[in-house]
Amino acid sequence: MAFIPVNEPLLNGNEKKYLCECIDTGWISSEGPFVKEFEQKMSASVGRKYGIAVSNGTAALEVAVQALGIGEGDEVIMPTFTIISCAMAVTKLGAIPVLVDSDIHTWNMNVEEIESKITPRTKVIMMVHLYGLPVEADKVLALAKKYNLKVIEDAAEMHGQTYKEKPCGRFGDISTFSFYPNKHITTGEGGMVVTDDKELAERCRMIRNLCFRNDIRYVHDEISDNYRFTNLQAAVGLAQLERLDEFVERKRAMGKYYTEHLRDIEGLILPIEKTDFADNIYWVYGIVLDEQVEADNKTVQKLLAEEGIGSRTFFWCMHEQPVYQKQGMFKEESYPNAEYLARKGFYIPSGLALTTEQMERVVEGVHKVLDKI
Ligand SMILES: *Cc1c(COP(=O)(O)O)cnc(C)c1O
Repeated sequence: MAFIPVNEPLLNGNEKKYLCECIDTGWISSEGPFVKEFEQKMSASVGRKYGIAVSNGTAALEVAVQALGIGEGDEVIMPTFTIISCAMAVTKLGAIPVLVDSDIHTWNMNVEEIESKITPRTKVIMMVHLYGLPVEADKVLALAKKYNLKVIEDAAEMHGQTYKEKPCGRFGDISTFSFYPNKHITTGEGGMVVTDDKELAERCRMIRNLCFRNDIRYVHDEISDNYRFTNLQAAVGLAQLERLDEFVERKRAMGKYYTEHLRDIEGLILPIEKTDFADNIYWVYGIVLDEQVEADNKTVQKLLAEEGIGSRTFFWCMHEQPVYQKQGMFKEESYPNAEYLARKGFYIPSGLALTTEQMERVVEGVHKVLDKI
């Protein structure tokens, strides 16, 4: 039987048509007209004034951090349980990630821990929404206001999600998106920064493009990178954005199906269907092994692979990253919930192209594997 990949995107809308337009008109670079159209539509879809498309979601975080003027010795509060893009964007500029543990139920950063981590050097709270449920944004925004901090919202996994009925991607000073193929909408590689602040938007545009100055070309006051986004990526993005509502609905149906069919298995903690603020959009369908299960995620994943089922582990904590430990960072720090999720969590096939038959096979496989261990 064919192996079921952990993710396969759905590209059967207008993607091909818009891509052909790029080829036919010769507009393939970042100067092409689809880029602006995609920026406008994407930012409007979350109620933001400005959108700056960049090469990927990591780049979006790097641009956002640099645009806010973060540098040497500044502190940025973020979850330890996240993708390294969040920490890298900060350490690249000589700034310091200050970590908080996870909420064991939502898998998001524990907002109750943030205040105790604020120091005179804190500049930013990086609010990262993970796996399909939003962080309690009001609490983060209230702290930012109280201590005069900036907020970056990493909404890479939150296309189409809302928090108290407002779209994710419109909280804080700057929000970032990724369009990697396992996100709800994809451009292959791609990302975007969105904001309502004109000056910040202009800084982001400059940073995206090697920090070229507007007045004189080839003269630079600052260093950045080439983070540009191509017309080809925008062509795919526009076609994907047209179907966002449908995609969210599909993901929710998938989440519902999995939960219904996996609920009875002992030893599994399944994603929360809703909080007081949002219904899960299941960026991916995550599973955490509970305390009765001795095996770790890797053991279970290996058995799933033998059944022809792809899976991925959860993120690995920032305080346990060898690269940061080598630099003497996060010494003696421990975050028990995040460490637990990193060792016991994984996700099963949940891409948009997944068929009902494949889901049935996944459910069967999970049952079989959990019976074995
Ligand atoms: C995917 C992701 C990113 C990085 O996006 P890339 O496009 O892969 O660089 C950043 N933050 C979160 C939370 C993500 O899930």
